[in-house]
Amino acid sequence: MCLTAFSQVLETKNWCLSRCDLAGDERTNTELVHLQLENDSISKHLAKRKKIKVPLRVGIIQTDTIDVEIPELTIRKAISELNKSFSKTNLVFYLKRTDVIYSELKLEDLSEDLYRPYDAFSFKYDLPNTISIYIFDHRKEFCERTSTTISCGRTGGFSYILSDLTSNIIMSRFDISDIKILAHEMGHFWGLYHTFEESQYGRDDFNNDNCDQLGDRVCDTPPDPGPLYEIYVNYSDCELLNFKHNNGRDYKPLIENNMSYYKPCYMREYSFTPGQIEIVNAAATLPLRIKYLDFN
Ligand SMILES: [Zn+2]
Repeated sequence: MCLTAFSQVLETKNWCLSRCDLAGDERTNTELVHLQLENDSISKHLAKRKKIKVPLRVGIIQTDTIDVEIPELTIRKAISELNKSFSKTNLVFYLKRTDVIYSELKLEDLSEDLYRPYDAFSFKYDLPNTISIYIFDHRKEFCERTSTTISCGRTGGFSYILSDLTSNIIMSRFDISDIKILAHEMGHFWGLYHTFEESQYGRDDFNNDNCDQLGDRVCDTPPDPGPLYEIYVNYSDCELLNFKHNNGRDYKPLIENNMSYYKPCYMREYSFTPGQIEIVNAAATLPLRIKYLDFN
């Protein structure tokens, strides 16, 4: 296909639409988890603790209830991969129940009107003390075309960050088998921000004294300029090259981190850093997340 000189291609792959301020309680709850981290006894306490079970309820959203439209194998494989991604945390997920939910809503509908349709859906269908993974279908087209522009986008999923407002994560049917996206959304649920986060706590400034206060507030995830600068990534070396912060320092983000927006890098697995794992484990000790754990 040939585009005229006037055409623009806007790549808007906002595959995770997590906004950090929409639920309203993210900041307070993030403060809680950092205060919890400061508590000296916690790491010792957690080190002794065995894995804790986390029941999951999968909700398949479809317009027709005659046939379940997602194979059980797809769901079980996704949970198995999720457990591999979280293998260094204290959490181990298991499928407790699967429901088919009849709704005309598509994934893109949920984020309209500052996510109010999402909040209403969650209020109606969430179960108490259980994490739901809702799997939504997309509207038909990923691309919109006018006479001079093409704009394409696909949302893989989203989740509020450590919020008590909803008890779920949203996944697209298209991406439920994407290893990174499910781990990424679950990461948000347990308190992790994007590695390029700057709207909530300000941009990471390369200063080691501030690294737990700025950006994603995790010290072992280096400053990440974000997906706009993905053009600087060399995916063979798994490295962002020749792009500097305005203080002159080279950005060297983790390309293969679960909470970044980069594509899979050659022969590297996505992972969480020890600092991110600490956040997840500390979040799991807070009342707003303990309620999702199964100690039996
Ligand atoms: Zn995200």
